[in-house]
Amino acid sequence: MVEITIRKRPRTEAVITQRKFFKKTARGKVVKVLRERYLRDDVACGIQGCRECSTEIPEPLPFSGSSEHQLYPNGHYLLPDTNVFLAQMDLIESSLFTPPIILLQTVIEEVRHRSLPLYNRLKALTKSEDKSIWIFYNEYRSETAIVREENEIPNDRNDRGIRVATAWYNTHISLTRPPIRGQKQTPHPTVVLMTEDAANREKAEKSGVTSSSVRKYVEGMKDANLLLDLLAADGSQEIEPTKAASGRQALYPDYLPISTLLAGVKAGELHQGHFNANQYNYLEGSVPVPAFDKPILLVGRENMNRAVQGDIVVVEVFPEKEWKAPADEVVDQEATLKNDDAEDSGEEGDENGEEVSVKESRVLSGSSSQKPPSERQPTGRVVGVVKRNWRAYVCHIDNTSLTSTLTTSLSTQTVFATPVSRLLPRIRLRTRQAPILLNQKILVTIDRWDATSRYPEGHFVRALGRVESKEAEQESLLLEFEVPYRPFGKAILDCLPPEGDQWVVPPKGEFDVQNIWREREDLRDVIVCSIDPPGCQDIDDALHAKLLPNGNIEAGVHIADVSHFVLPDNPMDSEAAARGTTVYLVDNRIDMLPSLLGTNLCSLRPFVERLAFSSIWELTPDAEIVSVRFTKSVIKSKAAFTYEEAQIRKDDPNLQDDLTNSIRLLNSLAIKLKAKRMAAGALNLASPEVKIHLDSAESSDPIDVEQKELRETNSLVEEFMLLANISVAKKIEESFPQTAVLRRHLPPPKTNFEKLQDILRKTKGLSLDVSSSGALAASLDICVDANEPAFNTLVRIMATRCMLSAEYFSSGSVAKNTFGHYGLASKIYTHFTSPIRRYADVLVHRQLSAAIGFTPLHATLHSKSHVERVLDVVNRRHRMAQMAGRASVEFYVGLALKARGEQAKVRGEADVKEEAFVIRTFRNGVGVFVSKLGIEGLVTFKRDTQFDAENYTITVPGAKKDVKISVFDKVIVRIEVEKDKNTQRGKVKMTLVEPVDSSAL
Ligand SMILES: [Zn+2]
Repeated sequence: MVEITIRKRPRTEAVITQRKFFKKTARGKVVKVLRERYLRDDVACGIQGCRECSTEIPEPLPFSGSSEHQLYPNGHYLLPDTNVFLAQMDLIESSLFTPPIILLQTVIEEVRHRSLPLYNRLKALTKSEDKSIWIFYNEYRSETAIVREENEIPNDRNDRGIRVATAWYNTHISLTRPPIRGQKQTPHPTVVLMTEDAANREKAEKSGVTSSSVRKYVEGMKDANLLLDLLAADGSQEIEPTKAASGRQALYPDYLPISTLLAGVKAGELHQGHFNANQYNYLEGSVPVPAFDKPILLVGRENMNRAVQGDIVVVEVFPEKEWKAPADEVVDQEATLKNDDAEDSGEEGDENGEEVSVKESRVLSGSSSQKPPSERQPTGRVVGVVKRNWRAYVCHIDNTSLTSTLTTSLSTQTVFATPVSRLLPRIRLRTRQAPILLNQKILVTIDRWDATSRYPEGHFVRALGRVESKEAEQESLLLEFEVPYRPFGKAILDCLPPEGDQWVVPPKGEFDVQNIWREREDLRDVIVCSIDPPGCQDIDDALHAKLLPNGNIEAGVHIADVSHFVLPDNPMDSEAAARGTTVYLVDNRIDMLPSLLGTNLCSLRPFVERLAFSSIWELTPDAEIVSVRFTKSVIKSKAAFTYEEAQIRKDDPNLQDDLTNSIRLLNSLAIKLKAKRMAAGALNLASPEVKIHLDSAESSDPIDVEQKELRETNSLVEEFMLLANISVAKKIEESFPQTAVLRRHLPPPKTNFEKLQDILRKTKGLSLDVSSSGALAASLDICVDANEPAFNTLVRIMATRCMLSAEYFSSGSVAKNTFGHYGLASKIYTHFTSPIRRYADVLVHRQLSAAIGFTPLHATLHSKSHVERVLDVVNRRHRMAQMAGRASVEFYVGLALKARGEQAKVRGEADVKEEAFVIRTFRNGVGVFVSKLGIEGLVTFKRDTQFDAENYTITVPGAKKDVKISVFDKVIVRIEVEKDKNTQRGKVKMTLVEPVDSSAL
């Protein structure tokens, strides 16, 4: 589908409208803007072989339309109105939905105005090769352009415009196909207006225009059974109402009007924030808001009032005497609500509804009464939703909710879809394919959540494949974390150098037509090498060091010169900005940049000349900085080492070559740099990192999991990257105080540590000083248990979880005294060293290049609001990428455990058992951390235990006497992977083996 461009040929008589409005310029001047519309009569209809319109259209609409629809045997074209695209995009995107579509300019503009994400999907659709979509510029064609009448609201004007365009098409088709004398007139195809608005349909029929509702249209299609599932559960649809919707009592309070919400927030009486569901307990949620140190707690479904993870909600806070502490209980939605009937959900009076509310109220009342008042936090209820953040969710059909599992039966059933994410409620959906969809991962969208329905209602989008198949699991992971993973399109690939993988750094002199050598330093003779994990293909950074005659040391960090290839504002740049980061999964990598750049032209491979951006210091032997300079350069790396190879080389006393000696120099400096950082109060935090061994690159079957080993050379590279990032941050902040792209890590609120401090004090008699990062670092160092070496790591992991996450920001957007990076104990910081895989670094490269006068700064990087907007996306993508990576590891750990368990069985051995530490106690279980595998698990007991919330202990009956378990205790767990009954998803199940066998509890 190709868009046509309209060459504006002003014809004085054809100016039919003049829009006049006033606009404020950036400098505050008010200017009058006159917008004139020039009309033409050669805007093409897009139908193949049309006698009147231009025929040189590459992919036109078929001459006879489509005759595959029952209602339109003479052929038809479909002309949907704006609301169809807004509400039914999943249907239109389906590969089974193939009628030729006429897309009006009016409709495109309305969609863009109403929803940017849907507009982007629509745009992608017009470019897709398996769709026949013609964009008709109705506002430019004289017969179809209309002017808003007096007293006509814009919406009505657009509806009328759409009807006029439909009518014009039908006339145009009959006029361009006059009957030929002596031949029987062949019937013409019809243009069908598709709209959900009954009044609009009535008006259309009155003026002789054929129209249809979406449902009626889909029912006449060949694949109706499959396509009907894709319809959004929208109130305006003619579906038979479920019992829930048929005039029954509301289960949830109504939302306040939006104006009341906004006024309340403004006055400080109500609070606005993102809703966070509690993954352990579906009856609790929280909303962090600026007015309180602790987030506002929401207890019970009624108080959460239909909020879904990520929604922006408005909350009313109860009087302080009603505040509560979070419950220490694992409350599983699937178990508590398993008897709920999907067809029937919402019935409050029935037995089942009562059973649920009894269970729920027991949970709700039992919890917080015995808690110390210090643990109470502001408590309230949701009174409105400002913005829904609903998207498509990966789910499984809950097999117990099916009334029929006959695969031959294609009758509509209402079933539950259980989202993979534990943060989401079950979704009710109506489908004809339920039996076929069992054991598949499917994508489901939430459409609505009425006050009369206990659950949100949604519709099926598409199936991803069989549960536990690699393809389905991998795609669902990308979808769950909103990772953009489509292949790079042509417009993006067109931005690559035309020489492709034949591109080389041109020789100096007359053949350098692009002037690449201009002001670039020739560092090809410098002994540069790279040190990375094994198998690294996207080599961002390389290093060198050498002794200077004055006894000081020159050290250099050379970073791939990505901004030489990725120019501001072209399609490749926009795509990289939208992706934000490369995403690393266990057996897959979703690149931010096309691989020609990432793994070839920008990758600082050994023995080839590459463009680099170098940061070169003169350091004293004590690692004091004497000077630093930045320069664009050409390097030729002498070696690409793995951490292990570099380490072995450094430690081999027989090697005295330049390369090895430069690694030794770098290492001695790195040790001193690290010591200085630690002395300044940097935190040495721990995150559980594991390595997954795969069978082979092809099969990607995990064989085993082991903990990652860290060598001296890891630290070497890390120290020099930190040094480069800090030096560059200072330079760009100096040059561009308003728009420098920086990275900060805010100090955690002291209250975040209260619980960990209390646990440490009560269980180990240790104290944690959190007054500054230096104090915290020092007190973490002495948090040791002589009998348990892993204890210190465990405390570091738990402390890390009390921290906030680091974020990118524009230097002009926040107060200068909040620039600091808490974890690194640096006053200023940025990301410069990984431009192949992080977009922020690309921006930093452009700013540094401008700061040294190499290239002028692109206009967008002078705009604070532009930089803020880009960094918002990048920050979000980074969080999502981290979560996707972690989920990928978890999935493979699960597979590896399953394999290990099976092997054990074959050998006749017992199950997989591992050492674990208790990190949390619940009323009905314990949370444990298995450090060897880097995974967390939950051991739950069916029987009640004696729970001492104040001392973080539970007491359970043992074989001979009662056993007390408290946080930090070392236990042994049995790890199995079992299929979750409802969702068919493999789930790691842990049971205690020691100190008690919990299988009977
Ligand atoms: Zn035509």
